[in-house]
Amino acid sequence: MYDAKAQQYEEARAKMVDTQIAQRGIRSNNVLEAMRKVPRHLFVPSNLVSLAYSDRPLPIGYEQTISQPYIVAFMSEALDVDPGDKILEIGTGSGYQAAVLAEMGMEVWTMEIVPGLADFARENLKKTGYSQVNVKCGNGFKGWPEQAPFDAIILTAAPNQIPETLVEQLKINGTMILPVGPVQSIQKLIKVTRTEKGIKQKTLLPVRFVPMIKSYL
Ligand code: SAH
Repeated sequence: MYDAKAQQYEEARAKMVDTQIAQRGIRSNNVLEAMRKVPRHLFVPSNLVSLAYSDRPLPIGYEQTISQPYIVAFMSEALDVDPGDKILEIGTGSGYQAAVLAEMGMEVWTMEIVPGLADFARENLKKTGYSQVNVKCGNGFKGWPEQAPFDAIILTAAPNQIPETLVEQLKINGTMILPVGPVQSIQKLIKVTRTEKGIKQKTLLPVRFVPMIKSYL
């Protein structure tokens, strides 16, 4: 059946990918195609659906946000991953970033500290057909040791320093993309590569993310 609404969203998404993402230099076809497919409007609260494809982060409740589409694309590309890779995400939020990685062919394990958001993400992932994504409610500072090692780790909340425990859950030559730094100051998005001897790191972009918290009461 022809669904005019779905068609409209698909067009908005194609435009988002062209103007906000491809034209700003994201080259990975896997990222561009995944973002053309994942229905971002089904990952935002229902009152914000009309803003789902706009060039900004959006509130998802509990003082948290779904990241700006460009940032999702940038981080997904920077992870340097191949289909089939096993990825850990810290900060599930709406589940959108996890869905993009799943659409790219990754095996995704994701952790969220706020129970209400873990539930929100599970629902969103289920209704959009990404129920293969594994969502756990828990403290991301601990990582997911039972599932380690990972080919790559992505953090969508900012710790003050690189969490050592998470580095230990990366494979050698694995990549971790994360924002670091306190919320009040300028945070940096960095790329960490685990080496035989320790880590290598590179600064990618100045960014603003919500803080990674140590506990949720
Ligand atoms: N990736 C998300 C954006 C999430 S915003 C998306 O695509 O929608 C960051 C998320 O990190 C918030 O939901 C917040 O609750 C979560 N978070 C903060 N500290 C955390 C921690 N220690 N462990 C796990 N999740 C955490």
